[in-house]
Amino acid sequence: MSQNNIVKFPNRLISPIKQFLENELNKLNKTKISLTAADPFKDEARTSNNSLDDDVDEQLGHMDSQVKIKFLARQIVQIRKALSRIKLGKFGICEKCGKMIDTDRLAIEPDTTICIACEREREA
Ligand SMILES: [Zn+2]
Repeated sequence: MSQNNIVKFPNRLISPIKQFLENELNKLNKTKISLTAADPFKDEARTSNNSLDDDVDEQLGHMDSQVKIKFLARQIVQIRKALSRIKLGKFGICEKCGKMIDTDRLAIEPDTTICIACEREREA
């Protein structure tokens, strides 16, 4: 192999990953919308006749939604990053050594930009 050969993640692997990520992104966006709607703080009528217990429930419900929404938002960002790397033809290629990143690693962390060997080196 020549030195100038640019390593690219094989297309036959990229298309199903891209499909998967796009589906996930759709699902996450839908979940995020329904979670936002389920947030009791969004309920217009909530202030009308609230007992203390209702208030506590609302607070907890609100916190719960916020935590879930934050988590979802993080996943959405990850997937968007991964999709943009696919577009750039950089998906699955280590930024440090230029080798292909393990697919198992990509399945867990689709927006990862370095391979496991380089990660270990960085942590060492
Ligand atoms: Zn590497």
